[in-house]
Amino acid sequence: MKLSDGMADPSPANVEALHEQRDWLLVTLSCIGDAVITTDFAGRVTFLNPVAESLTKWTQAAVGQPLDSVIRLINEDTRQPVEIPTVKALGEGRTLKLASHSLLIAKDGAECPISESAALIRNDKNAVAGLVLVFRDISERRKTERALALSATYAEDIIATLREPFVVLDSDLRVKTANRSFYDTFQVSRAETENRLVYDLGNGQWDIPGLRKLLDEVLSCNQSVHDFEVRHTFPTLGLKTMLLNARPFPPDSTSPELILLAVEDVSALRERADELAAINRHKDEFLATLAHELRNPLAPIRSAVHYLGMDGLTEQDRKTGREVISRQVTVMVRLIDDLLDISRVSRNTLDIRKERVLLATILDSAVESSRPLIVDGDHELTIQLPEEPLALEADPIRLGQVFLNLLNNSAKYTQRGGHIWLTAEREGSEAVISVRDNGIGIPAEMLPRIFEMFTQVDRSLERSRSGLGIGLTLVRRLVDLHDGTIEARSNGPDQGSEFVVRLPLLRPPLETPPTSAVPQTASLSGSRILVVDDNKDSADSLGMLLRLKGNEIRTAHDGLEAVQLAETFRPQLVLLDIGLPRLNGYDVARQIRQQPWGQSAILVALTGWGQDEDRRRSQEAGFNFHVVKPVDLSALEILLAGSEPTIG
Ligand code: ADP
Repeated sequence: MKLSDGMADPSPANVEALHEQRDWLLVTLSCIGDAVITTDFAGRVTFLNPVAESLTKWTQAAVGQPLDSVIRLINEDTRQPVEIPTVKALGEGRTLKLASHSLLIAKDGAECPISESAALIRNDKNAVAGLVLVFRDISERRKTERALALSATYAEDIIATLREPFVVLDSDLRVKTANRSFYDTFQVSRAETENRLVYDLGNGQWDIPGLRKLLDEVLSCNQSVHDFEVRHTFPTLGLKTMLLNARPFPPDSTSPELILLAVEDVSALRERADELAAINRHKDEFLATLAHELRNPLAPIRSAVHYLGMDGLTEQDRKTGREVISRQVTVMVRLIDDLLDISRVSRNTLDIRKERVLLATILDSAVESSRPLIVDGDHELTIQLPEEPLALEADPIRLGQVFLNLLNNSAKYTQRGGHIWLTAEREGSEAVISVRDNGIGIPAEMLPRIFEMFTQVDRSLERSRSGLGIGLTLVRRLVDLHDGTIEARSNGPDQGSEFVVRLPLLRPPLETPPTSAVPQTASLSGSRILVVDDNKDSADSLGMLLRLKGNEIRTAHDGLEAVQLAETFRPQLVLLDIGLPRLNGYDVARQIRQQPWGQSAILVALTGWGQDEDRRRSQEAGFNFHVVKPVDLSALEILLAGSEPTIG
């Protein structure tokens, strides 16, 4: 090694000192952890320490070689050669742009990332004598850097994929980054978010006291906060309920550099929970009402039964007793029918059978059924129908139920002596039917909810007047099934109410009334009638009633007996229970239909089951009608009057 190259001739004392200095330097350079290579003025290697040997894979044979053959550097990214320092370049004071990512190519071709620095060596006259290059293996540092870069990318990817809104704040509470869900949920853009103070977001909408409290706590105590609920009304988004989870980062440092903040928008969840709680409350109220409504008719029935058992009653007394029972049974039957229907609505299994019908026929029958309640309330009913026949594709029974319900409601929710208007007209291709009254009206805030299940404006109304709060739900579903719409209108309490139903009309209008029109009058007398029911009391009491009406009656209590009796009796009308011992009602009907005389008989299925599936089965078995027990004789009479051949 020629450290003294270019120096003036030394004196012996100086030479001695110089040697000492050189040895000392050599030992030092050999011991340090960095690689060191020195060159002379011409750029030839004069010294390399063991670390340099191991990195370059050169031995001391490198001494005397030009530096650029011992050290080969390339850029880690571009793999282009990197200029290595030379005496000339350093001497000219040129800053060598040392690549931040340099790879050293060793003699055996191995690559190693290094960091390097170079300096000129000057002699005692301050003349340039060569250069020293110091470099170090930074593979470990690179690995750590890469891992850190990778985890930073991971973190960004994770934040981006989170479905919850997520923001990262720096210690000044400025947003470093946020994810798409945050921008979408709170309707702010990235540009309006990044580097903004969190409280300034959305023009100050985020200046939320709860959030301030939470962030203060995280910053001052350097602790995570979990599920901190904040309810806040954003001017642009309305009321939001948010669950905030915040975490300082790094977790264990005394002063966090970042705050990770997850903002879960639980507004919909809370709303749903509130709704469910309300539904549950409604359901409980409904059950209480139902129990009340079902118990209500029982008391007069029980009294009437006692009363009828008393001695010394006149015919008029008995008649009154029977009428009480009959009226109350009708109430109960209606309640149970409604309940069955509403359960179909909730299970979405309400079926309708459409046929061509005239609107007037349906309205007539609804008015007839509603008349007792209207008369009872002493109301005036004004009906206005168009002259032209309006034909619909509809289920006459179900659509009749719609108008019956609306008329009954008008009668119920109008003070005695009120006025009810039923009007129908054609508007283009629609029939528009309005049921209006001058009754107690509906408060504006209730109008949007009036068709919801269990909704009742005033639950404290005298119970006998109110119902179960399911009628309008059923009405709307039935109107839906007829592709129509229904709307409730009222100017408020005591201003009356109006329900407007719109239904699509059939085109072209029907010329002749449909055959299935609900008939208006009929009688059930003078026929041969077979009554079949395994409940002996039911069969016998119905038989007695029909006998009193002038019919010839036979009763049977099981299926086989019914078939045998029918063969000899040849009934014109068979009132047939379905659930029978030995042979069920469907099979009895099929056997009767197979007989020549049985083809013209009228078969009526009497059953406890009014589901659409039951009706379909009885129709398939050959029944003309399907009637749900208990039998209402006048309803049966009307039903029969519409059939061919006519009874009686
Ligand atoms: P219900 O009559 O059995 O309570 P509905 O579903 O038929 O149930 O009606 C729901 C509620 O709507 C009623 O309780 C009543 O408060 C209100 N409502 C219905 N029809 C009228 C009407 N014509 N006038 C005033 N309020 C009505």
